[in-house]
Amino acid sequence: MQLREVKRPIGKKNDKEVIPQPTITLKVAKLPSGFKPYKPGTEIRYAPYSFGDIMDFAQSKFSKADAAEHIMEGIEVSSGEDLAYFDYLYIGILRRLATFEADAFNIPFTCPHFDVVEDKEVPCNEKNKPTLMANEISFDELNTEALPVIYTDDAGNDFHFMPLSVTEWVKLVRAGKLEDKKEVFASLVVNMSRDKALKLLNPIIGAQNIEDLTQIDKILYFGVETIQFKCSKCGKKVNVDLTGVDTIIQPFRTDKLPTGSRIRFGLPADSQPSPDQES
Ligand SMILES: [Zn+2]
Repeated sequence: MQLREVKRPIGKKNDKEVIPQPTITLKVAKLPSGFKPYKPGTEIRYAPYSFGDIMDFAQSKFSKADAAEHIMEGIEVSSGEDLAYFDYLYIGILRRLATFEADAFNIPFTCPHFDVVEDKEVPCNEKNKPTLMANEISFDELNTEALPVIYTDDAGNDFHFMPLSVTEWVKLVRAGKLEDKKEVFASLVVNMSRDKALKLLNPIIGAQNIEDLTQIDKILYFGVETIQFKCSKCGKKVNVDLTGVDTIIQPFRTDKLPTGSRIRFGLPADSQPSPDQES
């Protein structure tokens, strides 16, 4: 990777190799989290990608975790707090859209709805390939009055759960633990060490109380990681799962959507369709 001339308009300001350039940062007006995980008054800004950034993505074989760290370098949280993972996905989309004016996200999905044709329910199955524009992105906001979500187990231990942060997500990816319920839940606990959380959560996960934790998972994860589209054939609203989008938010990418590496667990299988796999 040779090109280093234009780097990080915001973020790594102490990098000696940065060539000064106009810093264009854009303020985030709305977020899937509704700004609830952050201190009141927190501003979140992002920069379009520089040429150097794009070359980095084009020329490097970034892992998902590496890519997330690169994408985060152009996102600034004024309070210094960690960004919630689903907010990161959303801002990742904004960063791309701010960089390439003519760029269109293709988020292909198959319509899951049914049409009634001559008294029979017929699956719509329309293959949609919508063009995603920044002002068209809509989502359900985090469904909780306040954070953290506090859960008390049978032994009286209080767990303070926050939405999964990008930093914790990167750690889980690097450790290969994204599919591990205990590890993911422990990553959400903010009022004790990870080791302690793992130890205390151990008897809870897999027991009856899994329902409580599933509820917490729903509050902190479910519903905010979808983008709403209208099916071009039947006109019905479709919520498309964003968890497969982590790769396509990179500014330079292959057109293949990633497979696997889903965080979600403990939810009904019929909740959301995933983006179709492009080939
Ligand atoms: Zn349809």
